Amino acid sequence: MKTLKCDLCEVTAEGETFEAWMKALMPHYMQAHPDVMKNAKEGDEQKWMTENKVRFDAAPLK
Ligand SMILES: [Zn+2]
Repeated sequence: MKTLKCDLCEVTAEGETFEAWMKALMPHYMQAHPDVMKNAKEGDEQKWMTENKVRFDAAPLK
């Protein structure tokens, strides 16, 4: 299980895999950063996933 911060604030989410972490973070994202999701352009989602996958992989395993 890894704990990783939201890329925009200090809130953390946990997940066994990157996909699980992303799923755990999503409700927070929709509540705290709806504008970011609303204003996402073509390709932004892919870029976000690539960047955050790198952060997830770099996070220490608990
Ligand atoms: Zn956040």
